Amino acid sequence: MKLTFLGTGTGIPQARAQSGLIIEVEAGGKKKPLLFDCGCGILQRIYESGYDHRDIDTIFLTHLHLDHVSDVLGLIKANWLVGLTQTHIYGPVGTAQWFDKLMALYPYLKDRLQVNITELTGGTVLKVADCTINTAHGCHSVTTIGYRVEQAGRIAVYTGDTEPCDSFTELARGAHVLVYECSFPLGFEVDNHTTPDMLASHISQHPLHVDRLYLTHLYPHMQGHEQEAIDHIRTVFPGEVHIAEDLMQVDV
Ligand SMILES: [Zn+2]
Ligand SMILES: [Zn+2]
Repeated sequence: MKLTFLGTGTGIPQARAQSGLIIEVEAGGKKKPLLFDCGCGILQRIYESGYDHRDIDTIFLTHLHLDHVSDVLGLIKANWLVGLTQTHIYGPVGTAQWFDKLMALYPYLKDRLQVNITELTGGTVLKVADCTINTAHGCHSVTTIGYRVEQAGRIAVYTGDTEPCDSFTELARGAHVLVYECSFPLGFEVDNHTTPDMLASHISQHPLHVDRLYLTHLYPHMQGHEQEAIDHIRTVFPGEVHIAEDLMQVDV
């Protein structure tokens, strides 16, 4: 498996695009990119990453906040423009209604697309693209789904937006790579998101059994505080800690 960070930012403009990452798996003997979240700027990052938008027909959404879904319709339209109309979207409960409302705004697209939507809850087990995918709910201001993708004994986990929570500690158990949000720097007071001290405090009580941790979903407030975040988390976590960057690629 290979992971490509497309966007590692949030809703506030900065050098980082909003949320999006590709987990490349093998399906039927061919490489297949699975897209997780698709916020503003991700369509452009797909181009810059070297992936072909025509190969992306499977999208997993952690939740429906704009910084995770803004480019979904743009990607579907890009594929429609080259004659590809089939897309499968997995997301939390409410995804079908969200998409129906988008289609109501663009009736010329509605009958020309074949978009299948599967709504998920925590604890779901899926077989997609020769992978096993497990889900768990996170702790955010709206319903969120985290994903654990497993293929040939390799495991990558992506949480989406969340406070530190036991469900994700369990979802990530034994993962080779965990992509976890770290929205704000040490000492920042916040709910529904994670700071290095919130994460370290949680890990000290609920040890995190993963090899490598990649911090993403960084607000501009994190600029200049990246190393401090790594150093703080390393006091309680023995694995590798990295700050994700747009277009960074990681073997799982
Ligand atoms: Zn959110
Ligand atoms: Zn977000």
